[in-house]
Parts: sequence; structure tokens; C-alpha cells
Amino acid sequence: MSALLSTHALKAWYGDFQALFGIDFEIRAQEIVAIIGANGAGKSTFLKAITGVLPVAPGNVVFKGRPIGGRKAHRVVAEGIAMVPEGRRLFPSLSVEENLCMGAYAKRPGPWSLEKVYGLFPVLKEKRKVPGTALSGGQQQMVAIGRALMSNPELLICDEISLGLAPTVIKEIYAALERITRDGLTAIIVEQDVLTAERVSQRLYCFQEGRVSLQGNSRDLTHEQISHAYFGV
Ligand code: ATP
Repeated sequence: MSALLSTHALKAWYGDFQALFGIDFEIRAQEIVAIIGANGAGKSTFLKAITGVLPVAPGNVVFKGRPIGGRKAHRVVAEGIAMVPEGRRLFPSLSVEENLCMGAYAKRPGPWSLEKVYGLFPVLKEKRKVPGTALSGGQQQMVAIGRALMSNPELLICDEISLGLAPTVIKEIYAALERITRDGLTAIIVEQDVLTAERVSQRLYCFQEGRVSLQGNSRDLTHEQISHAYFGV
């Protein structure tokens, strides 16, 4: 099966500082692919490069067979790529429902609606009138995921969605992600918890100092390989 999204020799800079040194990556439809790596390895930079936040050459990022590298972020959303940002970034003065509706401003045709998001996360329906910031961390994360789904993406990119959440909540959120990928979506997750990353993904990439230090099927990689690729020891 061909890749839904791939990157080819993807490099990225902050001014004179080079943060990525030629990343080759691919994800196929309905996969969950995890990216792991120590602080500063380049995970967030990689996400910024594929979502149009950092400038890259067109052919460096290919989505559904088309070069999309360097497109503006709103055009990337229109192509069908939605981001669940690190830290959730809800609008504090808006209710749960209003926050969810913010995700629909660039709505593509597709199945996602408020009702479908409430079907995925029923607790959000009960809390729909409450300000987003009055929710627990896990519920806020559900809003952030629901908001991204409201644009009807084909590819969901999740940056550290388990950060600071209780293990039961993390399980619940990843179970929802697995359900929506079975339904047709594809997801890239940046995950700082290696065991969670291995458990929920089919394939895994480890980044180290701006390069891919390891990749493979999550079930086949040994802890020794992963710690070597992660810490470089
Ligand atoms: P973390 O888990 O800490 O978020 P990361 O793997 O996401 O780490 P990046 O944030 O992508 O790593 O950082 C990669 C490198 O780029 C690091 O050396 C970092 O210091 C540098 N960097 C990140 N953002 C900027 C920026 N805005 N300006 C300059 N350098 C940056």
C-alpha cells in the first residue's frame, strides 16, 4: 500500500541552527505511527515542518501523492491534516461546544459533527456548556482531539497528548484514537512515554539529534534497540 504521507530528506532550520538533517518517514492509511525521542531530538520541529509552520521545499513532504511542503498551515488543514497541539490550547473564554466548533471553520466534507464527537467522548456532551478550562486535563485533551476531528481530517497529528494525564485517562484517549483509525483515520503521535508509544502504535520512529535513529514495527523492536536509539548509548 502506498504512503498517505511521506517525507523525503526533510531538513529544517531555525535561522542558522539546523534542527532536522534529512528525515525519511512514511505513514500508510489507518496506521498509528509513533515518534519518540529525547528532549530536543526534533520531534516538534518535524511536526512543524509537515504542518506548514516551518518553511520546507515542496517535494520534502508528500501527501496523497502531492507535494505539500511549505504550504501555509491553513492550506495544510484544507488538504486534510489536522493537529492536536501540545498543551491542548483551548480558548479559555469559550464553552466546550464553542471550542469544538472552532475546529469546523475549515471544515472539509466528511462524517464528523458535534454529535459524532460526543459519541466518541460522551462526557463532553454533559459538559458542553462549561468553559473548556473548567474541565479536567483529560477532558480538555478530548476537546482538543474533537476540535481537530471537526475539520474532517484524513491524518491526525497528536503532539504529546498523554502529557500530565493519569494512566486510566491515557488508556481511554488512546482507545478512542484506535477506534477512529479503525474507522478510516490515520494518526501520527509524538509520545514521550515509550511504553505507551510501543503499545498504541503499529510502527515507531525514534529521533535523535535531528535524525531517525531507529524505525520499525513497534512489536518487533526490543527495549535494548529502543534505549540505544533514544539515548545513543
Ligand atoms: P521536546 O520533547 O523537548 O519538545 P523535541 O524532540 O520536540 O523536544 P524540538 O523542539 O523539535 O525537539 O527541538 C529540536 C532542536 O531545535 C533543539 O535543539 C531545540 O533547542 C531547537 N529549537 C526548537 N525550537 C526552536 C526555536 N524556536 N528556535 C531555535 N531553536 C529551536
